[in-house]
Amino acid sequence: MTVAAPVLVFLAGACLGSFAGLVAHRLPRDEPWLRGRSVCPACGRTLRARDLIPIVSWLAARGRCRYCGAAIPIRDVAIEVLTGAAVLAAWLVFGAHAATVCVAVLATALAVIVAVDLEWLIVPDEMVVLAAAGGVAWRGVSDGAFLEAALAAIGLAALALALRWVFTRWRGVEALGLGDVKLMAVAGLWLPVAALAHFLVAAGVAGILLGLGWRAAGRGAQFPFGPGLAVGLYAVLLALGAGLLPWPALA
Ligand SMILES: [Zn+2]
Repeated sequence: MTVAAPVLVFLAGACLGSFAGLVAHRLPRDEPWLRGRSVCPACGRTLRARDLIPIVSWLAARGRCRYCGAAIPIRDVAIEVLTGAAVLAAWLVFGAHAATVCVAVLATALAVIVAVDLEWLIVPDEMVVLAAAGGVAWRGVSDGAFLEAALAAIGLAALALALRWVFTRWRGVEALGLGDVKLMAVAGLWLPVAALAHFLVAAGVAGILLGLGWRAAGRGAQFPFGPGLAVGLYAVLLALGAGLLPWPALA
């Protein structure tokens, strides 16, 4: 393996992260997110190729728009770095395989979901659909277990609805939104049944840690659960690829 390959994979992931940041900005504002050139949200100038190199452009311009000087949120760079790292990790465990492309699509959808849920407390349907489509393609190139995937999706959605009902009835709070229910179903599409318990534990721990941080930051009693589900799903997928959890489908 040369040094160049991982760097290129990371940069490709960072480009997906750059797109995810754009979508995360436009989707909740009902702006068109699949077309239209990138513009500076402050001054509206169309950004050129050299303004759009992930991470590098931000560092070169010291975190500011090159035209109007407005600060570019650190969040935009964080999404690029994290998505780049997520895609690099997928490539390291799944290798040069069609599965890696599917996982990169998932990483992009989850990056948007995490960013939007943290800011708006919603899980955008468009990204749930993208993550689900990626999951169906992934089952096609891995174990082909479409029936298992469908049953797991229905089972996890039912579990999430039951938890939602319990929380609403006894605590009087909406602890799991309908977006979270759909995201649970997506996890069922992606994960083999043997890994679902690991997913629930990982997502629960990630969700609770985020909730504690959310309260410590004084952001209110209701916190988003989408990021916990996203981290749990992605972590268990990587564990499957790395052979930490038994799953012969990609052997
Ligand atoms: Zn500007």
